[in-house]
Amino acid sequence: MSRLVYLNGDLVPQEEAKVSVFDHGLLYGDGVFEGIRAYGRRAFKLAEHVSRLYRSAHAIKLEIPLTPAQMVAAVERTLAANTLSEGYIRVVVTRGVGTLGLDPDKCSHPQVIIIADSIVLYPEQFYRQGLVIVTVRTIRNHPAALDPRIKSLNYLNNILAKIEGKNAGVVEALMLNAGGLVAECTGDNIFIVTGGVLRTPPIGAGLLEGITRDTVIDLAREAGTPVREENLTLYDVYNADECFLTGTAAEVIAVVTVDGRTIGTGEPGPVTKDLLERFRALTRGS
Ligand code: PMP
Repeated sequence: MSRLVYLNGDLVPQEEAKVSVFDHGLLYGDGVFEGIRAYGRRAFKLAEHVSRLYRSAHAIKLEIPLTPAQMVAAVERTLAANTLSEGYIRVVVTRGVGTLGLDPDKCSHPQVIIIADSIVLYPEQFYRQGLVIVTVRTIRNHPAALDPRIKSLNYLNNILAKIEGKNAGVVEALMLNAGGLVAECTGDNIFIVTGGVLRTPPIGAGLLEGITRDTVIDLAREAGTPVREENLTLYDVYNADECFLTGTAAEVIAVVTVDGRTIGTGEPGPVTKDLLERFRALTRGS
């Protein structure tokens, strides 16, 4: 189905939504983006996503030519124009058209693109049975090189890890940081449950500040589950009672095997199942 795409203030048919081959978003991955979920025609945690987009942009010295409030309105307008009740919204801000050199100051106008489309989900069976994942050799970007908090258009670090995961026959892959500690997966944050405590690596371990991660931490605290953001090793993961991933697309999904080690009972655990239920109640209002 053809979509209406927001391009610098206009809603244009997707066939006409084009950017220049001189755009530094294409030439260098110079830009930032967000992936947002729509439930029941509403963009979930929109203010949080817009805030992260602006923090990412600020970190790469990219000035978005809209205020955050205008960006919120633009996302809502794009969603409404595409009559989607359940969907996925991609917001992209590129550095814009420049020369073939790196200099971002030679770029004219940042391009603001908003796409609202249907979402491809993991099959329900994955949620019932849990995922098998592996740790890959590609380490997560070092924060001193490219901070993983910046959701930039350069996702090659994650794509290289994804390729390794696919070669190993899995749909998600776990990445460590330069210190050998657990960071995150290619497109999801990771949690474990040990003795009733929910544990997840701190942002300082080098990971994206996931909006779903924050939501799940809040839901767990509301449920009376202690939550600790602390460094985790693979040993901690292998010996956890439960493990799950969080992300805008995946929501909350159990992991039952990591590097051939069975996690807990080998089935999605009670804390994971409870958090998925709470998350679905929050997003679907049931
Ligand atoms: N880590 C990475 C590398 C991601 O790209 C994403 C988003 N797909 C996440 C974690 C999860 O973040 P969020 O919950 O905000 O979607």
